[in-house]
Amino acid sequence: MGLVTEPRAMTEPRASASGRENFPVLDQRVHGKPLVYLDNAATTQKPQMVLDAMNQFYQVDNSNIHRGVHELSERSTRHYEEARVKIQRFINAADWREIIFVRGATEGINLVAYTYGRRHVQAGDEIVISAMEHHSNIVPWQILCEEKQAILRIAPINQRGELLLDEFEKLLGPRTKLVSVVHVSNALGTINPVAEIARMAHRHGAPVFIDGAQAVAHMKVDVQALDCDFYALSGHKMFGPTGIGVLYGKAALLNKMPPYQGGGDMISSVTFAKTTYNDLPYKFEAGTPNIAGTIGLGAAVDYINEIGLDRIQAYEHELLAYGTAQLERIPGLRLIGTAREKASVLSFVLEGVHPHDVGTILDREGVAVRTGHHCAQPVLEWFGVPATTRASLAFYNTRQDIDALVAGIYKVKEIFGCGAGSQPARDSQSRQEVSS
Ligand code: PMP
Repeated sequence: MGLVTEPRAMTEPRASASGRENFPVLDQRVHGKPLVYLDNAATTQKPQMVLDAMNQFYQVDNSNIHRGVHELSERSTRHYEEARVKIQRFINAADWREIIFVRGATEGINLVAYTYGRRHVQAGDEIVISAMEHHSNIVPWQILCEEKQAILRIAPINQRGELLLDEFEKLLGPRTKLVSVVHVSNALGTINPVAEIARMAHRHGAPVFIDGAQAVAHMKVDVQALDCDFYALSGHKMFGPTGIGVLYGKAALLNKMPPYQGGGDMISSVTFAKTTYNDLPYKFEAGTPNIAGTIGLGAAVDYINEIGLDRIQAYEHELLAYGTAQLERIPGLRLIGTAREKASVLSFVLEGVHPHDVGTILDREGVAVRTGHHCAQPVLEWFGVPATTRASLAFYNTRQDIDALVAGIYKVKEIFGCGAGSQPARDSQSRQEVSS
């Protein structure tokens, strides 16, 4: 059997309102009901194009990168590095060397805490985060502060789940060594004014880290326009594979940071007496990376570009408004997170029913949601709830998905005999998709 070396035959994403037909996993029944996948903040589904790109890599090109002189290695290296340039353009970084492949947003944050943080934070210094952070953007800074006897400051939020910018600014001062905030909250959906935050922090000479795990699949991100110093994103939350993410950093800062992990590829030369380190971005990419995952992420970027982030954002905005209106009509339901600038998250509690019971009953209806604290325990505590049920949207969701969620919630209410009301008659418009 000969080797297949033909150019890649990938599945073309067909332009449709939702792009849904490109996601094979969505086309199934769960507990006998059509799957309604509303757990996109936990992880998004993968289009055929991403699956094909990774399969193609293993079937045709598989080889280690940056090392071999043979054809397969050169091909693998080329595809891996092409993915880096795709990401660079996707977030408008000034230089491809500013794109570092990591395991996910969590690793990106830890990388900066362990390198920039260890070098620049001393006893009595301060790091400022917000009250709505994911554990990934709390714990690495806590570990650093504990080690260095530094102080973690928490910028407060209001009842809607919006950052209080004035209060945030008051926390900044000569001791602030870093600010790290989430772009879009996974628990509330709040979109933070990160460009404004960066301006404020820079006035005090503090670099800014933006946790963009929940942002990049929903809105256009331009790291130069935001003028952030670091930005982390997560492949699996933007229709790419798990185990791959990106840390963006301004070259001037990255160049001054010590390496994160030692090993192959991050060195320029090694002797037992002394090792010198490789240039950016390789200095931070020790060992064999997730090559297939990186190529899959590149394909996910192609896919998003093909649909268009402007279109995605407008579509999801309408879908979120529709979902919010539908949920607000349900007696006994309280939305957690009602920020005026919000994306893709409908987090709620239902009077008299534990969120885990809501999630379990919804699952029996084929509706997949997340229940729990969403790795953001402090913010839920602030709202006075131990857990919520969270429906989170992607562009392949439709009004019918929202309707299925609402019908499922009424079923929960019926089973638990709580509160008034059977489901009101459906909005006739709701059978249509939001965009056409
Ligand atoms: N930050 C936020 C806001 C998140 O939602 C998540 C994932 N739930 C992370 C960080 C961690 O991302 P990853 O899974 O890529 O480590």
